[in-house]
Amino acid sequence: MTDLLPSDTSSSALPQSTPPHVIAPGLAGRLARRAITSPGAQTYDCVTPLTGGVLGSLPQSTVSDVETAYKAARIAQSRWAGLPPERRVVFLRRLHDLVLDQQTELMDLIQLESGKTRVQAFEEVLDVAGVSRHYARKGPSYLATHRRLGALPLLSQSRELRHPKGVVGIVAPWNYPLSMSITDALPALVAGNAVVLRPDNRSALTALRAIELIDRAGLPEGVLQVVLGDGPAVGNAVLERADYVMFTGSTATGRTVAARAGERLVGASLELGGKNPMYVADDADVEAAAECAVRAMFSSAGQLCISIERLILHERVADEFLKVFVPRVKAMKLGADLDWGNDMGSLISAEQLAKVTEHVDDAVAHGATVLAGGKARPDLGPYFYEPTVLDGVQESMQVCRNETFGPVVSVYRVSSDAEAIAMANDTEYGLNASVWTRDTARGRRIGNRIRCGTVNVNEGYAAAWASNGAPMGGMKQSGLGRRHGAEGIQKYTESQNVTVQHGPGFAIPKGISQKTWARAMTAGLKVMKKAGLS
Ligand code: NAD
Repeated sequence: MTDLLPSDTSSSALPQSTPPHVIAPGLAGRLARRAITSPGAQTYDCVTPLTGGVLGSLPQSTVSDVETAYKAARIAQSRWAGLPPERRVVFLRRLHDLVLDQQTELMDLIQLESGKTRVQAFEEVLDVAGVSRHYARKGPSYLATHRRLGALPLLSQSRELRHPKGVVGIVAPWNYPLSMSITDALPALVAGNAVVLRPDNRSALTALRAIELIDRAGLPEGVLQVVLGDGPAVGNAVLERADYVMFTGSTATGRTVAARAGERLVGASLELGGKNPMYVADDADVEAAAECAVRAMFSSAGQLCISIERLILHERVADEFLKVFVPRVKAMKLGADLDWGNDMGSLISAEQLAKVTEHVDDAVAHGATVLAGGKARPDLGPYFYEPTVLDGVQESMQVCRNETFGPVVSVYRVSSDAEAIAMANDTEYGLNASVWTRDTARGRRIGNRIRCGTVNVNEGYAAAWASNGAPMGGMKQSGLGRRHGAEGIQKYTESQNVTVQHGPGFAIPKGISQKTWARAMTAGLKVMKKAGLS
């Protein structure tokens, strides 16, 4: 039982048909104290999509609160940046353990706010632990000062340093209330920045609870500021004041955010939409591919940026694959329980439900066939929709090229790897792809030619996503910049070249004409090339 739920309605104490979709009285108020808001602030009602019930209400920040947050962040940042990276990562090691220890209450909140299943909420816990552990261990080396080859061997001594940007502004989305709310802030902090974070209102309870844990892990006061509010006013105010912009959301909003950052000449990292393909080659392990496809397409009810929405089947295995896959989809267990065992939960909102319904109805009206699913399930909760597989999808249908961001996948057939690669690349997006083949060399060859930031061979999304040492992000219209690995932290820094020059250096020695000096330098460069010096 968790201390977030009222003690008489623990999830284990009730039958599954009456899940306790409430939080402890006063919890929202307690969590909200961590955000910068003003007395008499407007409030936002946090609603659980699982039932449509109100969980609590949160005060909303104003633009002036955002300014207050930045002032405090700037003061705290200079002290924080003065600590060596080895000291700055200490809180991450503690956070790793705290998140794992407090997982039950975190999963309750994630499920309540997002509508996803327990096991998908657990993925978020794993993700935060993984990112924390990675940057705790590798952060200092990613930020270390390095010697670089100078212009004149031995005489020019270059050092590459990394300085924090200052205050990083982060606008986080709603679909991964724990993971998306805080994992971008962690490397930004380790790099010596302060952060002003605006979590989405729909996931703010989880975000605020996670920030309590970050505080408990020992992050100094003031370094991580939180404001609450909508995107266009408060989110925009956060990004407009940032020394570096971190945004996650749709490509349409991302374009606006990037344009504003461009006007101010500050850097921006954008994690945007996708229309992600999975290719099942003719030598694939069909059973394994079908099992994974269900997870890769319907995890978090498809409200996952790296979720698969296009299923490209080699014609030699298409029928065999669908014979295994479609019954699996039809057998998926949908439910609103705050407990293990369900395969898919709810969509987040009426808007998401309307978009999914529109994509499916439009496809059917234009001649697509529904192989599984295809309708809303109000009997389970206000925004439930069945996992849906469409066949015969054509260019004229909205679902063909537009991101659904829901539990809908379209089936296509190809006769060769080359055709599959062309189809995978025939989209404005380039976020994630999945390739299934028993021949891993073939899988790598295909993967290398797919224009996506991550390609999973014999997995759907989890393998590349959870490989925290390697970069993750979008090509084409799916984004700019990368999360994870060296790039995921170095983007939050300014690199600097400090070069000390010894000896005569570039001065022309006395008594030597400019022409003679130029000849000597020319000969010197030729020697350097022969010696393999850059
Ligand atoms: P959205 O662009 O409408 O909103 C995303 C976030 O930006 C929200 O929190 C919103 O409040 C905020 N926002 C809106 N306008 C803003 C503005 N002018 N300035 C600052 N912030 C603003 O997207 P959505 O429909 O809520 O989210 C789904 C989209 O996000 C999908 O396209 C999905 O693929 C994408 N997404 C991408 C990733 C990734 O890592 N690539 C992760 C999650 C979601």
